[in-house]
Amino acid sequence: MTRALNQPLGGNQMPRFGGHASMMRLPIQKTAAGLDACFVGVPFDIGTSNRAGARFGPRQIRAESCLIRPYNMATRAAPFDSLQVADIGDVAINTFNLAASIAIIEAAYAEILEHDTIPLTLGGDHTLTLPILRAISKKHGPVGMVHVDAHADINDAMFGEPVAHGTPFRRAIEEGLIEPGRMVQIGLRATGYAADDFDWPRSQGVRVVEAEACWYQSLVPLMAEVRAQLGSGPVYLSFDIDSLDPAYAPGTGTPEIGGLSIHQGLEIIRGCRGLNLVGCDLVEVSPPYDPSGNTSLTAANLLFEMLCVLPGVHYRS
Ligand code: MN
Ligand code: MN
Repeated sequence: MTRALNQPLGGNQMPRFGGHASMMRLPIQKTAAGLDACFVGVPFDIGTSNRAGARFGPRQIRAESCLIRPYNMATRAAPFDSLQVADIGDVAINTFNLAASIAIIEAAYAEILEHDTIPLTLGGDHTLTLPILRAISKKHGPVGMVHVDAHADINDAMFGEPVAHGTPFRRAIEEGLIEPGRMVQIGLRATGYAADDFDWPRSQGVRVVEAEACWYQSLVPLMAEVRAQLGSGPVYLSFDIDSLDPAYAPGTGTPEIGGLSIHQGLEIIRGCRGLNLVGCDLVEVSPPYDPSGNTSLTAANLLFEMLCVLPGVHYRS
């Protein structure tokens, strides 16, 4: 069996600063037909509670992804040796209507998933994970969850609204989209309203790993425990860039000090290798607060690392 696999446009074919700003300079196509994995943007930030700007995340992450090469020097992953991957553009949300946008996102992912592909989402604020999970669970059933974030995102409501960027995991657990006993939240920290902010997920059976438990540590041992906890069933990886310390990722809407390092973020994602990942997202990048581009650069590289740990990726010896 041979099939022509898409390859990122190389730096010797077109200067890295030229050409279309697709994710990793991959080909662009309209649907996920024929793809094992696809990058898709959701330019959405009307669920944010503080700084806005994540609507610009997909475009800027694509721009900063132009430097990423196809082979992972550290892990030897060569995702384009075995997977067909492309950028399928952005979901056309209705930026004047949050509820309508949630329905649009769910419908878009239901269509994407008809192609038996694994979506890697460029956010967008964290609200978008809820409609994605609604679509994912219709296809795969309730999923395990690796949720990396400064915040638990389990508020019951924000300003009276049940759907906002601080509520998706409350809703997802209530709706049975996630198996709480197969969920871990990593990096939680900072100020809250009450202990219940972190105790509610614990009361549901979620493993909560606060940032302080990660300080000064390699997270490789933690991820071995996570793989054992999550087992062989379907798993979704949701990575909020504000899990990282603002020293690394200042361009985000709700920054919190004392966060994870980039090295720990890499250990978490690389530690997901072997899990049955059915979808991933990278959310909350706000380019207006990211004058150096470092936050988007980091996000782009973390999305590549997610691609590298999908089932079926070829690792060169
Ligand atoms: Mn979040
Ligand atoms: Mn957060």
